[in-house]
Amino acid sequence: MKVIYSPQLMEEAAFRHLSHLERSGYRSDYDEYHSLADPIYELPEDDREVAFEKVNRIFFIERLKLGDHVLRALEAVGLIPKRKRTTKRAQLAAYALETDEASDEEESSASMHLPPVDDDSQETTSEEDLAPLVDTDLQVADNPQKDDPDSEETDGVVSYDMIRDFEERINEVHVKRAINKVDEGSNVLNRISGKPMIEMRVLASRFCNPEEAQELDAFLICEFMHAKDMVDPEFDYEDAFIPGNPSVKNLITARFRLLWNLYVDARLARSGIISTMPREARYREFDNFYRKIPEKQRRGIFEGIWVTEKFTHEELLSMATDLESLMSKYVDDADISEEERDFIHLQGSPCPLCKFPTYNWVDDPESICDEMVIEAIQIDFPDWENKDGGCDRCIEVYELRAGV
Ligand SMILES: [Zn+2]
Ligand SMILES: [Zn+2]
Repeated sequence: MKVIYSPQLMEEAAFRHLSHLERSGYRSDYDEYHSLADPIYELPEDDREVAFEKVNRIFFIERLKLGDHVLRALEAVGLIPKRKRTTKRAQLAAYALETDEASDEEESSASMHLPPVDDDSQETTSEEDLAPLVDTDLQVADNPQKDDPDSEETDGVVSYDMIRDFEERINEVHVKRAINKVDEGSNVLNRISGKPMIEMRVLASRFCNPEEAQELDAFLICEFMHAKDMVDPEFDYEDAFIPGNPSVKNLITARFRLLWNLYVDARLARSGIISTMPREARYREFDNFYRKIPEKQRRGIFEGIWVTEKFTHEELLSMATDLESLMSKYVDDADISEEERDFIHLQGSPCPLCKFPTYNWVDDPESICDEMVIEAIQIDFPDWENKDGGCDRCIEVYELRAGV
């Protein structure tokens, strides 16, 4: 697997991280960056871009080790094999065999000059190589230790074995700069053609503050989990057509995303990995979408999903589309009164507006419609309340009528 970082991401992430260090009183990396980058302005214009890219790459990958966040996340979700662990002693010995240009941040000093790319790695690498992580410096000290789970905590030194064979479903991971929060996330391209490639978009600002590294890692892990599901034959992801009018589609999409996130969180929790959101926060999100279900049953459903080992894409989607499939899976019939059940709008019960059996309920029109739509309904049906809901067609008709 190749991990490829976009020049824009490396540039902005390295720059922000260095500026942050500088503001926190650690000037040496920052100064060194400038001593390398500033003379580039003297170069002929055509050569500058390549030169900047090289400096940014050295800082992003080798000096600041920002790419390690991505590798750790890939490893955490099992998309790359577990790292070989080396002790600090082995690591130091490996350094001693090289020049004294250790790339540890703490050891950077004013006397340090830019190590040429070839110099820093244990293998020789072309300076023009655009897929550095495959070829460069991460195989420090080929010194396999017993796989002691504590060693990582105790000496904090790890190395990656990127050459070893493993079940590779994904050819390439492209890590790019997101332009805003909405743009962030992962996707799998060429899923069908058999050469799947993950595209990950992440805000460069997440790399800025070392104290926020845990959030960055959690974000990357969560996104790689989704990507991994998308190439997992058992999950059987499909670009599904979601029926209904646009508001209903949005609602189903939002619920689907929530359920999928919940499935991701639960698996991470079982492996002892911190997620982007604590379980209670995820429950509050869940709560918001399923207010119609009485509290006790709602809890039960959430717990039920949480302990479910495996879902398929289709199961998650059907749970997002219709409350009944959610209820029938996790709620005991005897546990819920007839009255409560009516209120939940099960599939096939009649819409209060058109009286037709309804399979696409809008449970809480207020949450997805303009106030004018609610008013328009109440003009025709004075006794109707938001909690009575309606079928997606009726809601669409009233949306049109209200001109929204
Ligand atoms: Zn900062
Ligand atoms: Zn209707």
